[in-house]
Amino acid sequence: MIHPDNGSSRNLPNKTPCMSYWQRTTRAFPYLAAHHNDPVPTRTQYVVIGSGISGGLTAFELIEAGVAGQDIVILEAREAASGASSRNAGHVRPDAFRGFSAYAKVHGPEQALRIISDERRVLDKVNEFVAKHGVQCDFHLTSTFDVCMTPEFAVYEAESFQQFKAAGGDVSHIRLYEGAEAQAKTRIPDAIAAYEWPAGSSHPAKLAQFLLESVIERGVRLFTFCPATEIVQSQDGVSWDVHTPRGAICAKRIVHCTNAHAALLLPQLELYLRPNRAQAHSLIPTVAFTANNALRQTFSLRYSLHHFYSLIQRQEDGTLILGVSRSNPTLSAETLASRYSIDDSHFNDEIVQDALSSFKKIFPNFSQNTRDIRGEGLDHAWSGIIAMTTDSVPFVGAIDSLPGQYICAGFNGHGHLTGMARIFTCAPGVVKLMLGGQWSDTGLPECFQFTPKRLARLLGGDIPSIW
Ligand SMILES: Cc1cc2nc3c(=O)[nH]c(=O)nc-3n(C[C@H](O)[C@H](O)[C@H](O)COP(=O)(O)OP(=O)(O)OC[C@H]3O[C@@H](n4cnc5c(N)ncnc54)[C@H](O)[C@@H]3O)c2cc1C
Repeated sequence: MIHPDNGSSRNLPNKTPCMSYWQRTTRAFPYLAAHHNDPVPTRTQYVVIGSGISGGLTAFELIEAGVAGQDIVILEAREAASGASSRNAGHVRPDAFRGFSAYAKVHGPEQALRIISDERRVLDKVNEFVAKHGVQCDFHLTSTFDVCMTPEFAVYEAESFQQFKAAGGDVSHIRLYEGAEAQAKTRIPDAIAAYEWPAGSSHPAKLAQFLLESVIERGVRLFTFCPATEIVQSQDGVSWDVHTPRGAICAKRIVHCTNAHAALLLPQLELYLRPNRAQAHSLIPTVAFTANNALRQTFSLRYSLHHFYSLIQRQEDGTLILGVSRSNPTLSAETLASRYSIDDSHFNDEIVQDALSSFKKIFPNFSQNTRDIRGEGLDHAWSGIIAMTTDSVPFVGAIDSLPGQYICAGFNGHGHLTGMARIFTCAPGVVKLMLGGQWSDTGLPECFQFTPKRLARLLGGDIPSIW
């Protein structure tokens, strides 16, 4: 059953979102409801639409590049950073090789190599950013295991690895463990093989809130519960009037950081951007995962390309965060179909049961040799909306048909659930373009660029689905 909202990206975010673990642990953020009753100013220089990590970092980079904070307004449809940025699974996990062959089929091998190396660059950038600005977002730089739970998936991974390497991909940072060694390294008795490379985890809401607090302290005005509902050309012919329920605001530069909802204001994106509901869970560890038994690495636990679980353990409080692939084939047809939705007001109980039973199967010692202790195990479940683009890469850059408007959206929750693994290069890139730079200044793969040619190619239907 397709949800009544039809899973269209031409919808505003729903008004009654459920709350994630990350939101529940940051309710004292002073700007959660910033300016929530105030009319918007009639004029500014820059309007950023969306206050997630993309919107926050775009505003941050504008200021770093010399724009006065007072010249920037951020519009947010709900409370501050209440989209995917505060609802994800906490991984900052670059793709090291696995996506290469799939990307190569769509974008060519040269772009596929660049997509993978861009993700690696993001990890370094997040690490540097957090250190430089002293961001208290529980960032944990570590390594990650891609664990093959079936022989078939181990073959798929081995082939992907070889194809990436043969195309000139750098594999010097990747280690492979097989059989007993994989089992010992990962603590997973059924592991067939495991690949390990550098990755991290963070408290994504704290990261998003740091960005917003930092720009607000430098003069940016954030209007929460204030959706942009329409954008029309201003009378002067060079500016845009952004309409909201609390008035219209005129600006020369607009940047769409609306991720899964981008097509509401940019209808030309409707066919290329599909919102998908994803789900994550927090678990309170049993003694098998506390103190010195806590997991220090992060995990992607993979049965197949579409059936996997992501796992991090927070080093601060030991909470485990367990994400579930959206197209997990063991789920019922009804649950699978219901993922095409922008409704993040609830979670799906079938997914909860699947996540818990799979987790306990993968880590059988989780609940062995312990009494059932009240308070251990499932703590919370929540959903959030991911933006899937038909060619699996984001839309970044100038919208030539609407001079002065830019986009930084469409962060797919692809095989790694990586959005954060891209934003830290994409948002600085879009800012360079807004301030007069060329695409080559962004350092981004060309296939990320928002161009009429890309849209025409997508419309041609010759793009195989990657994930
Ligand atoms: C369950 C789940 C697990 C995930 N796990 C991971 C993970 O482990 N690692 C990872 O890297 N990524 C993960 N992702 C993906 C990642 O969260 C996103 O790619 C990333 O947060 C996108 O950031 P954003 O700022 O572009 O979008 P968002 O955070 O969604 O921000 C967009 C904002 O725009 C607002 N908005 C939309 N339309 C309008 C409008 N018209 N007017 C005003 N405001 C508007 C929304 O309310 C929202 O706050 C996951 C996502 C989900 C849902």
